[in-house]
Amino acid sequence: MNNTYTDYDVIIVGTGPAGGMCAYELSKRNLRVLLLEKEKLPRYKVCAGGLTKKAVDILPEDIRDIAENYTFNTHLTLNHRWRFAKTTSFPIVTMVMRDKFDYFLVQKSQAYGASLLDQTRVNSVEEFPDYVLVTTEKGNFKSKVIIGADGVTSLVARSLGLRKKPKLGVALEGEIFPNNDSANLSIYDGSLQLDFNVIPKGYGWIFPKRDHLSVGVFTTLPRIKEIKRYFSFYLERKGLAKNYICCSLVGHQIPIGGRDEILNTKRGLLIGDAAGLADPITGEGIYFGLRSGQIAAKVIAQSLTRDCLLLDEYTQKVRNEIIADFKFASYIAKFFYNLSFFTYNLVRKTNKFSEAFVRVVAGEQSYSDMFKNI
Ligand SMILES: Cc1cc2nc3c(=O)[nH]c(=O)nc-3n(C[C@H](O)[C@H](O)[C@H](O)COP(=O)(O)OP(=O)(O)OC[C@H]3O[C@@H](n4cnc5c(N)ncnc54)[C@H](O)[C@@H]3O)c2cc1C
Repeated sequence: MNNTYTDYDVIIVGTGPAGGMCAYELSKRNLRVLLLEKEKLPRYKVCAGGLTKKAVDILPEDIRDIAENYTFNTHLTLNHRWRFAKTTSFPIVTMVMRDKFDYFLVQKSQAYGASLLDQTRVNSVEEFPDYVLVTTEKGNFKSKVIIGADGVTSLVARSLGLRKKPKLGVALEGEIFPNNDSANLSIYDGSLQLDFNVIPKGYGWIFPKRDHLSVGVFTTLPRIKEIKRYFSFYLERKGLAKNYICCSLVGHQIPIGGRDEILNTKRGLLIGDAAGLADPITGEGIYFGLRSGQIAAKVIAQSLTRDCLLLDEYTQKVRNEIIADFKFASYIAKFFYNLSFFTYNLVRKTNKFSEAFVRVVAGEQSYSDMFKNI
């Protein structure tokens, strides 16, 4: 075939946290990696940019220069009324802007030899017995393995015939900037705000950044009428409608993890949102993107040295390490998001639930521990 370049061990489609981390781990192991990205990098990505402690703990490089804020105080509310606050001795969530964070990982992988082609949309992926053919706007590429790190609407997943009926939630987020001197960002500094039940089966958040706030609403329902109305109401309730200006209001789907799905073929596999790996309660996906990228890199590197591709091991490892715990999160979500008067009172009268939830966010315990204790 004309215009086909053959030289890669692995092609990764998508340069979010999953693709960036996987490229880093593979190129560090001296594999020939090509990253393909449809946008021009660095690119804006709608996301609250909250890196939980467990996500920061597995990062291979220091992100001090790109961190926007460190939150030590967690504030939870339920039904706009009941409140819970917890202070931790460590930043429970480190705030970043995704353009900088995602590009940071890509640049680190380039330093180890990964190649990048941005502004290059992948149009199709075809798997053959001995190689994979990737067709893009800028030519065709061949590799031994293909990785779908192309997010929730993954073209790679569709091309490989994987994840045919993904379970999805929806989020809407705005970047909120002070508009005059009456706006006071400093009260949000160092604090993480999660307000449950301000939207059906979901929550609203306020995450502080260097010069603004990332504010949004997320529902675990697959679709919801008038999500903008819930967002506007939330801004009003929080006193952010006046004196602040909302820029780049964007909606996006979030996968709801927890199903036992096959995440690989003979020569392909999915990581991050493409694999449906987001927390069924909070929608957190960055940690799971990073971690699945690491697991994938290890399995692929071992397979390629043995000259025998055994990618089924990837699905098995992700099931054991991530999806098994998501199942417990799904049970808790059913109980928590179907708030009856009884559940509401239970949560309100004891801090046990909230204490346990904060420990999960911090990465100090799993959802399975939380489920068993409660
Ligand atoms: C409003 C909102 C707030 C969120 N807040 C948080 C949070 O605070 N903390 C957290 O942990 N998670 C959060 N999430 C979830 C988090 O954003 C995702 O889980 C995370 O981005 C998944 O990373 P990824 O690398 O799998 O995919 P993505 O980050 O989606 O990256 C996919 C990449 O693939 C590229 N791509 C797609 N198709 C193609 C193609 N055909 N060819 C080439 N390139 C392609 C895209 O341009 C993109 O760069 C939030 C999500 C939303 C919607």
